[in-house]
Amino acid sequence: MADTELSAEIKSALAGVEIPGGGDLASYPGLSEIIVTPGAIAFAIAVQPGMEAAFGPARDDAHKRAQALGGARKVMVSITAEKSSGPKFSHGSPVPAGKTSVKGVRRIIAVGSGKGGVGKSTTSVNIALALAAEGLKVGILDADLYGPSVPKLLGLEGRPAIREDGIFSPHEAFGVKAISIGSMLVPGQAVVWRGPMATSGLRQLLRETDWGELDVLVIDLPPGTGDIHIGLFQQAVVDGVVIVSTPQDLALIDAQKAIDMLRRMNVPVLGLVENMSYFIAPDTGNRYDIFGSGGAEKAAADLDLEFLGAIPLVMSIRENSDAGAPSVAVDPEGPEAAAYRAIARRLVTRIP
Ligand code: ADP
Repeated sequence: MADTELSAEIKSALAGVEIPGGGDLASYPGLSEIIVTPGAIAFAIAVQPGMEAAFGPARDDAHKRAQALGGARKVMVSITAEKSSGPKFSHGSPVPAGKTSVKGVRRIIAVGSGKGGVGKSTTSVNIALALAAEGLKVGILDADLYGPSVPKLLGLEGRPAIREDGIFSPHEAFGVKAISIGSMLVPGQAVVWRGPMATSGLRQLLRETDWGELDVLVIDLPPGTGDIHIGLFQQAVVDGVVIVSTPQDLALIDAQKAIDMLRRMNVPVLGLVENMSYFIAPDTGNRYDIFGSGGAEKAAADLDLEFLGAIPLVMSIRENSDAGAPSVAVDPEGPEAAAYRAIARRLVTRIP
């Protein structure tokens, strides 16, 4: 059945769901668009603050009806209540209570950047493999809703399996477990996932994936700061965030914004990685500091952050990424892998 047909069919089924105060969910103005992908069905119910619990039974009923029509698809129904008072986080406000750790996961390291295209995903994946090379049990969660590239970087195909109890079985590649928000979406659909749905999708990937026992879960965040970041930092204990930047981004203004948010939310910033830092000529192996190196290192010092290391700009990193086999796996003894592994070792000492 075409996704739009299923979406319409679910909407009709929601006409049978009673909501508090009378009426049915299908005609309730707070019902979001019903998103149907090959792997998932997602919608949100916006309610007045304080009405979340009252809408619980309606949500459960809606979930049941959507599941009955959706077959093997994972159903995500979230209740959202807009708090009307001011910005979500005022400067220095404590992180809201209710953060919990993720079952089976000992540490979470998130990887962020001020803007897109700096090599954040490439760095996340290679750091994850480098941590695994240190003997750790590692998972990677691709939360970059607007540009999910982990499946491509790791050569993952198809959607993750869903167990009978609704729990995701992650993919396994190069010895790490991996799951991507991208496998839940059909191309081009990410933009229609609104804030609460993105947050709820992330929550389910995080909490309803069979991670087994992991020493570290690496989360590839979307660039910048947004709903996914706030949602994650509010609900889960994140041990620290690595910021990836390029030397061209010398003023690092975007990165600085991201760091400010992390500090406001009391999320530890583990340090800065400078990507595409210097160029290694493929023919001679000579190193060229084409951008004038050291920008990120100086910026890290200015921002009172640890400098975690520099990754060269090398064609092979791009080629390996395109081929779905990251540099750390393809050439574990090569100079690129050495750069990633040095960063991984530094991270291990930062988060024992
Ligand atoms: P982001 O996640 O920040 O959007 P990506 O990881 O998708 O960035 O990287 C953007 C592009 O840059 C990709 O084509 C990737 O292969 C390439 N790239 C990333 N890091 C390097 C590097 N150190 N050397 C060469 N190419 C790189």
